[in-house]
Amino acid sequence: MKLFNTLTLTKEDFNPIGSEVGLYTCGPTVYNYAHLGNLRTYLFEDLLKRVLTYNGYKTKHVMNITDVGHLTDDGDDGEDKMEKGATREGKSALEIAEFYTGAFKQDLQALNIIEPTIWCKATDNIPEQIALIKELEAKGFVYQISDGLYFDTAKLTDYNKLSHLPLNDLKEGARVEANVEKKSPTDFALWKFSTEGVKRQMEWPSPWGVGFPGWHLECSAMSLKFLGDNLDIHCGGIDHINVHHSNEIAQSESATGKKFFNYWVHGAFLNIAGGKKMAKSADNFLTLDNALIKKDLSPLVYRFAALQTHYRKPMEYSEAIIANSATGLASLKSQIAVLGSELGQISVDWQAKFKAAISDDLNTPEALAVLYDLLKSNLSSADKLATILDFDQVLGLSLEKAGNITEENLPADVLNIFNNRLQARAGKNWSESDRLRDELEKLGYIIEDSGKDSAIRLK
Ligand code: AMP
Ligand code: ZN
Repeated sequence: MKLFNTLTLTKEDFNPIGSEVGLYTCGPTVYNYAHLGNLRTYLFEDLLKRVLTYNGYKTKHVMNITDVGHLTDDGDDGEDKMEKGATREGKSALEIAEFYTGAFKQDLQALNIIEPTIWCKATDNIPEQIALIKELEAKGFVYQISDGLYFDTAKLTDYNKLSHLPLNDLKEGARVEANVEKKSPTDFALWKFSTEGVKRQMEWPSPWGVGFPGWHLECSAMSLKFLGDNLDIHCGGIDHINVHHSNEIAQSESATGKKFFNYWVHGAFLNIAGGKKMAKSADNFLTLDNALIKKDLSPLVYRFAALQTHYRKPMEYSEAIIANSATGLASLKSQIAVLGSELGQISVDWQAKFKAAISDDLNTPEALAVLYDLLKSNLSSADKLATILDFDQVLGLSLEKAGNITEENLPADVLNIFNNRLQARAGKNWSESDRLRDELEKLGYIIEDSGKDSAIRLK
């Protein structure tokens, strides 16, 4: 499997550190709904995880929830986005965080995005963040000014190794904040003090004074805590390269003395047709709800649209593009439906072509082309269906719902186990029912129970 690594600017062979791939994806700041641009990034990360699984890797995926410390200008000034959201809605920061975390998880589910192995919140990991600052302080990377503790980027010779930008350009980029006390514009906050006389909703004691952690710190502290030494892949949108991820690398490597993540993989932006970036602060704020669900379109139409553009290419949003994608997905599903419901064998040859495309830096346009070629090929309908459902483990388009798995076309042994499990459930023999569910899972089937009913589908 090959991945384009922002650190080396080359497509590299992927080699994990241990038996389990450690994957860290920067999560949402939960002060508002996720917009379609954010969701494009989470879709690309989901695709990456599915391709790792398809290639036989076991993954440990960590995603953080930013519920403190992310300031409105993305640097170290301005208001805390969470406290701003709370004021806007007349609620507490905690209520805002809970509400938008729930909304975010619903979006992920609607898009068939597989949840991370571990969710973690910045506010649940304050001691870990303080411990990291202490290590940096002991090693001489920290200085204090009136509003907080800062990382001294001049102590590093390779601060720009992820951005590949001349230091002067990075300094110019950071200068908008204009904090005159900072030694260099690229220095960033590790701990911010609460303003004298102002009681923040979220603040903690620390050896240096009451305050809250700088935004970049949470991702370092939590990836080190939850992934240990398995720091394989770290992802986010391209806007994170120059500041957020550069700062994560600076503080983590300075504290541990070890390399922080081998592969840095970044997704390009979703832009409004005409090239404008979609942003929460702009008026072009489109959510899954207002751009798709309210228009009676399945959220998977957006997933299908995202698959048509390679993740490192900018993607355009327009109503016409979404409408085309809806037609395209409906057409694909109808071509699958006419294959009938008999499940044949997965074609090893077609699987190899698909795997080669998708494992080449997640080349989804190429992988979809393999799918359409397969549909046109002279393979039997039953084998086509089995092969397409195999591809769908990566595409995540719920294509099994296009073809029908019914009791009539289940292999006899699977049907037998399924029926035995129904009996075990009816007799409330839960341990036997769980054992049979596991047996079916090993055979590649998933059971969905609802009330007294159970449905079976391919994994
Ligand atoms: P935020 O909640 O602002 O921290 O952003 C969450 C994720 O969405 C980050 O990985 C960002 O890089 C990404 N992101 C922000 N805007 C866009 C956009 N217009 N297109 C794609 N990804 C974006
Ligand atoms: Zn992060």
